[in-house]
Amino acid sequence: MALSPPRSRSFTVRLPLLLAILCGLLTPAFAEDTSAIVLPPDPSARPDMQAMAPTSSRDANRPCLAALAAAGVVFETRGRHEGSGQCGIDDAVEVSAIRGTALQPSALLSCQTALAWSDFMTRTITSQARTHLGSTPSTLFVAASYACRGRNNVPGARLSEHSFGRAIDVRGMELADGTTWSVRPHASGSSDPAARFQTALRQAACGPFKTVLGPGSDGHHERHIHFDMALRSSTYCR
Ligand SMILES: [Zn+2]
Repeated sequence: MALSPPRSRSFTVRLPLLLAILCGLLTPAFAEDTSAIVLPPDPSARPDMQAMAPTSSRDANRPCLAALAAAGVVFETRGRHEGSGQCGIDDAVEVSAIRGTALQPSALLSCQTALAWSDFMTRTITSQARTHLGSTPSTLFVAASYACRGRNNVPGARLSEHSFGRAIDVRGMELADGTTWSVRPHASGSSDPAARFQTALRQAACGPFKTVLGPGSDGHHERHIHFDMALRSSTYCR
């Protein structure tokens, strides 16, 4: 008669085996985690790690920079652009072109202002130029971007939005067909295409930009249009 092994012995033999298998399965995963935690600190690696780690301001600015790049803007990041006194830009970018339209000279702006301007160029200026002038811009003539100064260049006046990179002044454009358009005073209601384009531009900008000033506004903007992203909810457009 064949004897069957007692159940208790079978359990005794299998239990260590089971434990060994379980340990074998569990140990490698746990060891990987542990090795990641217990790596000895390497002081020589720390400067590199700090250089690679973005600062908090860079982190905050990263979505804006990514949006600029995605919008087809050619720019260089300038980080914090220091200015005297309260002037300066935390998240400065220097924009040299927007979707094939060159900015001449390049514009030093805050990233958010550059993003708003690129959106306005792409959505409004190009289509309005096509409608009124029969062509699209190839070069945008920039009269001013960042500048540490009082409003209307008056020393001692309240600082202009230009002092914070939140403003751009435009004096004209060259179009793809070789013609140019320049900011200048026009008679009210003029049917001149250049006048109609200028009016359309100023009207469309009021809202996306908080301040829009051009010819006829205050005598300081007869040959350029000022667009800014002042930090207020209301608009001032003249
Ligand atoms: Zn201005």
